[in-house]
Amino acid sequence: MSKKLLLKNAHIEGIRYFETYRKHGGYEAAEKALKMTTDEVLEEVKVSGLRGRGGAGFPTGMKWSFLAKPEGVPRHLVVNADESEPGTFKDRYLMEFLPHLLIEGMLISSYTLGSNVSYIYIRGEYSWIPDILEEAIEEAKAAGFLGKNILGTGYDLEIYVQRGGGAYICGEETALLESLEGRRGNPRLKPPFPAVKGLWERPTVVNNVESIAAVVPIIEIGGAEYAKIGVGRSTGTKLISACGNINKPGVYEIDMTITVEEFIYSDEYCGGIPNGKKLKACIPGGSSVPIVPANLLLKTINGEPRYMNYESLADGGFATGTMMGSGGFIVLDEDQCVVNHTMTLARFYNHESCGQCTPCREGTGWMYKILKKIEKGEGKMEDIDLLWDIQRKIEGNTICPLGDAAAWPVAAAIRHFRDEFEWHVNNPELCQTQNYGIANY
Ligand code: NAD
Repeated sequence: MSKKLLLKNAHIEGIRYFETYRKHGGYEAAEKALKMTTDEVLEEVKVSGLRGRGGAGFPTGMKWSFLAKPEGVPRHLVVNADESEPGTFKDRYLMEFLPHLLIEGMLISSYTLGSNVSYIYIRGEYSWIPDILEEAIEEAKAAGFLGKNILGTGYDLEIYVQRGGGAYICGEETALLESLEGRRGNPRLKPPFPAVKGLWERPTVVNNVESIAAVVPIIEIGGAEYAKIGVGRSTGTKLISACGNINKPGVYEIDMTITVEEFIYSDEYCGGIPNGKKLKACIPGGSSVPIVPANLLLKTINGEPRYMNYESLADGGFATGTMMGSGGFIVLDEDQCVVNHTMTLARFYNHESCGQCTPCREGTGWMYKILKKIEKGEGKMEDIDLLWDIQRKIEGNTICPLGDAAAWPVAAAIRHFRDEFEWHVNNPELCQTQNYGIANY
């Protein structure tokens, strides 16, 4: 059984409200942190080994230590709650059921970073959650945990919730900052990183909801204890949102020592695949990471079991491995059509491309067009090679990672399931009549 740090109190009725949250130890970590120096809190986060939970896995303590501190210039913490990666819904769960965990994490993090005004930028489609967050902010303020002179320490903090307009690109941190400043969410070139030049050109740390929530247990148990959970550089616990062909879709907290097989088949997690169907493939880290066929998903290239952690999922690099990503775990059973699934994703990335970079703007539409043709049985063998060529020309040639995110699923699908693409080309009549199981998540 995985250790629970973030969700340990999620089952308690009323935990969404300050009174209940406080009764169960809420804001004790914040009280502890506010008695420490900011360097001491930073050290705990560094020692914990926490890696960014939005998808990139960048060490949080290192990101915080990069924050520039020019004299007289305000600094900001911005929480990235623009969770839009297909298959990913773990931040929604945290904000909906444990809003005070996020607010407490923000208080500790803002104090450490020296931010007096911090923001939560939330995905537009999460229309009911800003009210929950704003209510939690008001409650925390009334109890003296936000506002002026928090707990008599002289430290002030205001938190604002900003709703996005429903664009996937605004989850990219620099597009998010553009949007927060009131402009169209076009990504900026990096460097400079937000830690140096972020919101209104001020030093800014942008962190995912789960990363900031994780700061609470880190302070509670100490960075060193947190680092003992998990394995290698995959320390602490990770939330996984599981969906697709599984018996128990939902949000699970794992300690990154369990195998992929255990995660899919154990009753504690996904509970296996419905109707005794066989596992075909899985996308373990949200739609942007490569799809992996069952044989490589259950074993690494060395024949070792594959574990649910950053290193093991990436074993073998992109050619054979995949990524932990945002933890959006999508399972496909033997009835699913990889071509149809890849086309669905290509449509998504084409729709969500901001259009700033030519390879992404033109390439995503081109890939979608070809995939549609192949899926319908109207493609030729050369189209498969053309598709491969286009994705190669998008990858690494755009300002932000949306281009890579659009290219990788296509590359992995062709690499591992080329026979399915060829089957579509060779069986045009069957493509018109057979039901391939529409990707549905
Ligand atoms: P990235 O690797 O470019 O950056 C990660 C973080 O580290 C950023 O905050 C960046 O500013 C910081 N950083 C990196 N180098 C730095 C340096 N030298 N100095 C200061 N800061 C530095 O990745 P990214 O573009 O932030 O994220 C890409 C990931 O996002 C993808 O892998 C994907 O899994 C994930 N993603 C998640 C969602 C979601 O809904 N959660 C949606 C789309 C994509």
